[in-house]
Amino acid sequence: MTDVSGMASGIQMDFTPPSGTGDIAGLASAGGVPQNPLGFLFTGIMAFVASFAFMAMGAPGWFSAIAVLSGFAFCAMYFVTKGRAEKETEERARAAYEAEERFKDEIADAVKERMKGAIKVRCGYCGSLNDEKANKCGSCGATL
Ligand SMILES: [Zn+2]
Repeated sequence: MTDVSGMASGIQMDFTPPSGTGDIAGLASAGGVPQNPLGFLFTGIMAFVASFAFMAMGAPGWFSAIAVLSGFAFCAMYFVTKGRAEKETEERARAAYEAEERFKDEIADAVKERMKGAIKVRCGYCGSLNDEKANKCGSCGATL
């Protein structure tokens, strides 16, 4: 048997992809990451820096406390957003991988199906080629 996977990659260009792949590509572009997690981290750090600046300037304690708390809040949002973004990326990669595997299987099946008709059986009596499914030789009538 020939290497089907090698043949599959060869015909990949003119093979119509299964409908599923298009949906996943659309999902990937439409979904996107809602917010840049680094924006939250940056804001959080800025809030910390600002709180130190407020303290240094002799601002009231509660004012600095609010700045520190908002710093924590932004950092927490960073980790939440980052975690969610990573999970989404992971899921998207897995979905794309599964679609690709499914796609490869479909190509392999299509190639096998196409090759089925091309397999010929040589008659042991007269030597002529017959279809694989043929029970009798088309030339001499011998049982194959
Ligand atoms: Zn024959």
